[in-house]
Amino acid sequence: RRTMSDEVNKAKEAAGGAGAKSEPTIFDHILSGKIPADIVYEDEKCMAFRDVAPQAPKHILLIPRIRIPTLDDATWEHAPLLGHLMVTAKEIAAKEGLDKGYRIVINNGVEGSQSVYHLHIHIIGGRQMGWPPG
Ligand code: 5GP
Repeated sequence: RRTMSDEVNKAKEAAGGAGAKSEPTIFDHILSGKIPADIVYEDEKCMAFRDVAPQAPKHILLIPRIRIPTLDDATWEHAPLLGHLMVTAKEIAAKEGLDKGYRIVINNGVEGSQSVYHLHIHIIGGRQMGWPPG
């Protein structure tokens, strides 16, 4: 029998909680330095750190300093910031030596399995990726 993965359950719980989009997330605490993280890059607009539960040899999360809860909450005003994140993502991938390719992922909302409501880009690599994703 097929069971729902822990990650999907976590995502459903996160979205169901009161104020999922307004309460500070764990990433705010990483940004403020209250919670430690293995930071690989930062500038005035964003920060990148290693995922605590890596899904591949390299798994980095890139987040904007400002809190946009989900991609759905992004507006045209955020377009320069989102572009900045994309170009930063490929520079981080290059710095990590992912010259044979990698995967960029943004999970959005419940069915996208998003569990932290602070927009983030997953940079995943160091092994052959499969398709379609689960
Ligand atoms: P999402 O499922 O929302 O797209 O991704 C959230 C990611 O954040 C997950 O891959 C999860 O492992 C990671 N994560 C959750 N809490 C922490 C934390 O405290 N530190 C770090 N480095 N990663 C975290």
